[in-house]
Amino acid sequence: MNLSANSAPVLTPKALREGQQRLRASLDTLKGRLISPDALLKGQQRVLELVARNAPVKETLSEIAALAEEAFPDMSASILYYDPKANVLRAGGYGRLPSSFADIVEGMVPGPDMGSCGTCAYTREPIISVDVFEDPLWANFVGLCNEYGIRSAWSTPLIDERDGSLLGVFGMYYPTVWSSERAIDISFAQDFHQLATIAAERHRDEQRSRHLATHDSQTGLGNRNLLNEQGDAIVNQAITNKTPLTVAFIDLDRFKPVRQQFGHAQSDHIFNQIAERMQQRLDCADLLIRFTGDEFVAFLPLPMDEAKRLLQDFAADLAVGFEMAEINLQITFSCGLATYDQDTSDMEMIIVQADEAARVAKQFGGDTIVIADQTLATRAKSRRNIRKMLDEALETDAIQPFYQPIMNLTTGRPKGFEALMRITDDKLKTVPIQDLIGVAEETGQIHRIGLKMFDAACKAVADPKDPLKGLSVNVNISVAQLMKVGTTDRILASLALYGADPARMCLELTESQWLDGDGAGRRTLMELHNAGLKLALDDFGTGYASLNYLRSLPFDIIKVDQSFVKLIGQDRQADALCETVLALGKACGLGVVAEGIETREQLKALTDMGFEMGQGYFWAKAMPVNVASQWVGDNFN
Ligand code: C2E
Ligand code: CA
Ligand code: CA
Repeated sequence: MNLSANSAPVLTPKALREGQQRLRASLDTLKGRLISPDALLKGQQRVLELVARNAPVKETLSEIAALAEEAFPDMSASILYYDPKANVLRAGGYGRLPSSFADIVEGMVPGPDMGSCGTCAYTREPIISVDVFEDPLWANFVGLCNEYGIRSAWSTPLIDERDGSLLGVFGMYYPTVWSSERAIDISFAQDFHQLATIAAERHRDEQRSRHLATHDSQTGLGNRNLLNEQGDAIVNQAITNKTPLTVAFIDLDRFKPVRQQFGHAQSDHIFNQIAERMQQRLDCADLLIRFTGDEFVAFLPLPMDEAKRLLQDFAADLAVGFEMAEINLQITFSCGLATYDQDTSDMEMIIVQADEAARVAKQFGGDTIVIADQTLATRAKSRRNIRKMLDEALETDAIQPFYQPIMNLTTGRPKGFEALMRITDDKLKTVPIQDLIGVAEETGQIHRIGLKMFDAACKAVADPKDPLKGLSVNVNISVAQLMKVGTTDRILASLALYGADPARMCLELTESQWLDGDGAGRRTLMELHNAGLKLALDDFGTGYASLNYLRSLPFDIIKVDQSFVKLIGQDRQADALCETVLALGKACGLGVVAEGIETREQLKALTDMGFEMGQGYFWAKAMPVNVASQWVGDNFN
């Protein structure tokens, strides 16, 4: 029988037939043994069925062990399978030997003097110990032999014929000294040996495909599937046994620019080295997961202070740097640490808290480790609630735009509106919009929210009753939306669907979010601009925008952030900034809007400076579409 000679499928009908023929031929040797040829054939079939339906490897190997023992009445079989990752033998199948024996053998490391099985796994050669009490290989296991009545032993390696690797060891133990009569067993046992090889091969294949499904192909670290499979159990076990567990959320600092600077091949190479150093330093981790692009999660069986020291060591490992194109590249990370709370924790919650702490570390400028405390825990919980409620709101149309007028300061009349997201649902009403947007950006809900807002604005603009009185509408768009493939098409489709004039639509992009160099975001902006939409750079003065940024992207309008308008007339720098931005905008041929005008004094100061557009509570807050309509009708007819 040579069912294992080739790779899958292991059990072709032909292989099965051949195997059975061979087995039949060897049945002669059964004369005088306990098992009948029929029983043997049936037993073999049972085993192959177990293999075919992927039964647990221990079950299959135990079936084989029991079958072999039927054929050799005084023999005890022990089938071990090899775990190459841990380099240990695992207790596989047993018949007569009790589970206490299996417990002792479990985890045995192959070595030159490890009884017959451990030594066989080490040398990959069959080993016969004629008398275990005389054999130096067994010197360390005399007690075991006494306890389980073992006097001689014979072990053969199970080898994967496809690549020559070790799959396990088939061991046969006898209560008497080995005699030459037993030589016959060797040939007959071949068949059981082959069955065990098939079972172990199948197990190895399954482990491999499981590994592929649960590990990141680039770094070899675990992936989200592995986290979902094992995370809860690790947390629950720690909570039940009150053992230490610290979850580390590791977020590389500014890795995106590295990717841009060095390209994919080289930055992947650096990334893999980072993952490797991480794996080495955090090797005590119960789980080490690549969570998303540049983020990792480690489950460390350590108290908080020790976990923190370990992460500091890892930071030092990275500080050695990476040699790249004649420079030494320094990589740092922001890390959040969280542990469980005996009463309320579950895996997701701990990760959210660690993530939250990592976010704080990032706000400190990165290269920092922050421990999650009660405030962070509360914040993390509230974020999770917000996400759930946003989901519900998206389902129920509780998210709508309200319209705030943008004024022409020269004529004193409205020039357009800004559509601002409002929640009409009681549960979420109390949460500041900025926080809702923050959560939505993280969860990806911003895409649905953004489109909902844009659709509603298109509908209002194109409504034959013209509630917005022919004025234009600004809709906020998040950088995440711009980056997403298909955004241009989706936006153009909305315009077409509602019949809205693109020239009446303007997209506001906040300056505090970084738009990558030549990437997808820039492309989307260009496409939308070419389609006739206007573009505004929002919250100017708060972010990264350089002159270059302004020059190279097709903006039509800049909006000066309200924090500067607030200080106008009180703070020289704020005055100077407003004046400079206005001059800059005019020089570039851009419209400039002053945001957040609340008082007559602010309005006067700004008009004196030469501002021509403004927005703020001085005129109106954001209003539902019908109220906005009436507001224009009442005040400007
Ligand atoms: P923003 O785009 O800068 O919007 C202006 C914010 O200032 C609005 O806050 C508006 O209500 C408020 N505001 C207007 N005039 C005054 C004033 O005179 N005084 C004061 N104190 N505030 C004034 P809101 O609606 O809370 O929105 C906050 C931020 O949330 C927005 O800032 C924008 O960044 C974001 N946001 C709102 N709706 C959306 C949306 O649909 N999509 C996206 N991506 N972001 C949105
Ligand atoms: Ca805005
Ligand atoms: Ca703004």
